[in-house]
Amino acid sequence: MAPSVALYTLGCKVNFYDTEAVWQLFKNEGYQQVDFEETADVYLINTCTVTNTGDKKSRQIIRRAIRRNPDAVVAVTGCYAQTSPAEILAIPGVDLVIGTQDRDKLMGYIQQIQADRKPVNAVRNIMKTREFEELDVPDFADRTRAFLKIQEGCNNFCTFCIIPWSRGLSRSRSPETILQQARQLVEAGYKEIVLTGIHTGGYGDDLEGYNLTSLLWDLDKVEGLERVRISSIEASQIDDAMIEVLNKSPKMCRHLHIPLQAGENSVLKRMRRKYTTEEFGATIKKLQLAMPGVAITTDVIVGFPGESEEMFEEGYRFMEDLGFAEMHVFPYSKRTGTPAARMEDQVDEEVKNERVHKLIDLSERMQLNYAKRYVGEVLDVIPERDYKGAPGSGLIMGYTDNYIQVVFEGSEQFIGQLCRVKITEAGVNECRADLIRVWDETTVSLRSESGAVRA
Ligand code: SF4
Repeated sequence: MAPSVALYTLGCKVNFYDTEAVWQLFKNEGYQQVDFEETADVYLINTCTVTNTGDKKSRQIIRRAIRRNPDAVVAVTGCYAQTSPAEILAIPGVDLVIGTQDRDKLMGYIQQIQADRKPVNAVRNIMKTREFEELDVPDFADRTRAFLKIQEGCNNFCTFCIIPWSRGLSRSRSPETILQQARQLVEAGYKEIVLTGIHTGGYGDDLEGYNLTSLLWDLDKVEGLERVRISSIEASQIDDAMIEVLNKSPKMCRHLHIPLQAGENSVLKRMRRKYTTEEFGATIKKLQLAMPGVAITTDVIVGFPGESEEMFEEGYRFMEDLGFAEMHVFPYSKRTGTPAARMEDQVDEEVKNERVHKLIDLSERMQLNYAKRYVGEVLDVIPERDYKGAPGSGLIMGYTDNYIQVVFEGSEQFIGQLCRVKITEAGVNECRADLIRVWDETTVSLRSESGAVRA
């Protein structure tokens, strides 16, 4: 019988991507993947350390795997493994800690442990690493959207964030391998590629004469690829050349996720973010002018140390004025080891909660306003699944290029196909639409002046 592996991922999209890459390593060795709740020969836990809760949750999952099968090899990778290998190895039953690099050596370590049952700490100093770790991910569990990791690490050292210590400094993947992987994903049937990284906006900083704009132009030429989405980008990276490719290439999604984190300058400064609200606002306004209908989403941290009521209110008005299509709102959470955790004037949890709710309400209002602009418009959608995961409902759902979640009547066969729909009703989290047609491979979509597509 084939050996079995059970995988568990905590944390962000990059971790999920890395787990897919690790699964390929096991698959190539003839392993079958089983559910994490089943008995397996190897358990691999890809951990997160972005908050103190991430560490705790990671430890719980590790213990769960050890209880499930004490004879299995228990391997721990990811951010928490990178920053605290000794803490993890101190858990009886852990066999391997491998961090956020050297995953190509994983299978060798597992064979070695299976032979001699001696625990291994394979974590090396990540701060010295300058090379992008090349791991192949030819397919994903979700058949509609493929993720493509283009960058690793971060040089920013925001005061609330531990990530540079767990992922190291920014490294870009070579354009050649990105394009090769993109072509491979298109051949496997994917229509949309999401470019991801720890600090995707830092792509190209370590490359000579090649940046994210150059990469987008090269991806524009990949035949059969319908959509390119950038998971996140910094306001400072959006210049005229970037706006030109976003506008001119029909493949580039009219959706940009630009983290703001705070809407008041003294908070931004204490966070060590590299822009002022004036600079951020000017970029957003420029984008909205140059790309009518562009969906701009953002992340906001609420209740950062020292954030007074006045600062919060000023930030609130700033966000309202910019008119985001959606905001992801997080209460500030102390991360041990970061400068912000040692700052005085930590904000009371209750105050944080209250502010979080105010911003979520604002986000929902902005989401609805954004969606309402599209009622009566014709847009292209790639359906991802049955509505609410219930096959046979006759309803399917997917996202437009400007990230409106759309539900419409259609067959399961349309999942993964480019469908043209007319929006009939706007909602906060989902809009209703009527199907107009399903595009075949040879059809080219056309954008109108308003940014919508023509039927
Ligand atoms: S930009 Fe700041 S928040 Fe984002 S990964 Fe880097 S240090 Fe963390």
